[in-house]
Amino acid sequence: MADMTMAPAANPKASDEVAIRIEGMNKWYGQFHVLRDINLTVTRGERIVIAGPSGSGKSTMIRCINRLEEHQSGKIIVDGTELTNDLKNIDKVRSEVGMVFQHFNLFPHLTILENCTLAPIWVRKIPKKQAEETAMHFLEKVKIPDQAHKYPGMLSGGQQQRVAIARSLCMMPKIMLFDEPTSALDPEMIKEVLDTMIELAEEGMTMLCVTHEMGFAQSVADRVIFMADGQIVEQNNPHDFFHNPQSERTKQFLSQIL
Ligand code: ADP
Ligand code: MG
Repeated sequence: MADMTMAPAANPKASDEVAIRIEGMNKWYGQFHVLRDINLTVTRGERIVIAGPSGSGKSTMIRCINRLEEHQSGKIIVDGTELTNDLKNIDKVRSEVGMVFQHFNLFPHLTILENCTLAPIWVRKIPKKQAEETAMHFLEKVKIPDQAHKYPGMLSGGQQQRVAIARSLCMMPKIMLFDEPTSALDPEMIKEVLDTMIELAEEGMTMLCVTHEMGFAQSVADRVIFMADGQIVEQNNPHDFFHNPQSERTKQFLSQIL
């Protein structure tokens, strides 16, 4: 009988509802076929970790989900809206999808609070006072309300990344995409950012995280997706992914990072 003792707890927040569906998706950069026949369905509340060697197309894939990159064939449907050249659809999808990058991309000349209220005020047309209240709520959530009136340059990398997460949350996204959010951080700051992400996961946020933090994958992910050479090579629950990898490519990758 299979050993189930290490199996992760079923995710009570996941549902059958589809958050993202990618079907037969391909993308080229010029002549270079960067994503090959990607098929992926993410259900609401699901937490996905995307792993794979550098250059395998992880960033490109998640950037396609909010149309920072354009795909050339196949379908990407986010919360029921298909991504096409229709700008209205692109706006709709972007309003529902938050993204956090390796480099925090905060506006250096705006305070932390202003970074968090800029888009809600100008894009969402939310009154300033209400936007500030929401921003303070999320700054408290990421445990830096006391930094609200400082500028990004006065904060540590870990604090800046937590601001970037709070800033995304101020737009009330249904889905959060993370692209190596801890890769640019000093080791002692990685945990504070991961803790924020864990809390978000526990609250039921649908999350796709590109990360090399395999501890995070093991404890938080419902599913680990392994990419190589522009393809999804293998996917599984974390226990089976780490303990019983199927493909040679996955085994080789794991032997290098674990
Ligand atoms: P990963 O995030 O897994 O490291 P990327 O999605 O960044 O991979 O890149 C996949 C491949 O596409 C790499 O070979 C990279 O050099 C190439 N690439 C990424 N962005 C561009 C671009 N804007 N133009 C051309 N090639 C790109
Ligand atoms: Mg990348």
